[in-house]
Amino acid sequence: MGLSLTVLGCSGSYPGPGQACSSYLVEGGGVRLWVDAGSGSLANLQLHSDLSAVDAVIISHEHPDHYQDIEGFAVGCHYLLRLPPVPIYAPAGLRERMWGPPGAFIWNEISDGDRVMIGGLTVGFSRTDHGPETLAMRFDSDGRALGYSADSGPGWSLEALGEGLDLALCEATYLADREGTLQHLSARQAGVSARSAGAGRLVITHLQPGVDRDSSRIEAEAAFGAPVEVATEGMRIEL
Ligand SMILES: [Zn+2]
Ligand SMILES: [Zn+2]
Repeated sequence: MGLSLTVLGCSGSYPGPGQACSSYLVEGGGVRLWVDAGSGSLANLQLHSDLSAVDAVIISHEHPDHYQDIEGFAVGCHYLLRLPPVPIYAPAGLRERMWGPPGAFIWNEISDGDRVMIGGLTVGFSRTDHGPETLAMRFDSDGRALGYSADSGPGWSLEALGEGLDLALCEATYLADREGTLQHLSARQAGVSARSAGAGRLVITHLQPGVDRDSSRIEAEAAFGAPVEVATEGMRIEL
């Protein structure tokens, strides 16, 4: 049954008008994973999944545009729906930072180089070039592979996730004229990274509100050397 990606939110750093922050559903190997839970994404998650159908949650790092909605998820699942605790995988420190009922999650600490099996899906982690400990991820199921950069500056590359990525989902916070102003990637740098990794396909995400989508796509395509898609809420890709 391969691997699929559904975009729940893709606004970078803070929510845009009517747009949720980074969040994705990754499905494969018989499990449904909620990957990052940025502000606004819990509302969109429920357009695609009952809360009880989330098998595990994975959070890349402790910035609010990637984790904040696990708090509302915990309230809903624990107090109102009275669901059993959900496994959550996150870097050290997030557990202490989040507000929420302690019994909502089963916590699993992850770090650079870890690999975990969740159902029939393998998830590998690589620490990126970003402020707090931030983990990029590689998902493998049924011979298909998806790489997700999380947030990163140019000191890390998708190459660190290994060869054979069918799809790279890479942050592209801004355009090349702002390179170096924050610990993030431009669309050009996302294209370079995906090309170096030999990715079969590139979707750019985490564009900050106001950054032009067409300019980002064109810049990424020039560097990647092939067509590039810009993430939109509700986009679903089957690999
Ligand atoms: Zn971010
Ligand atoms: Zn961040």
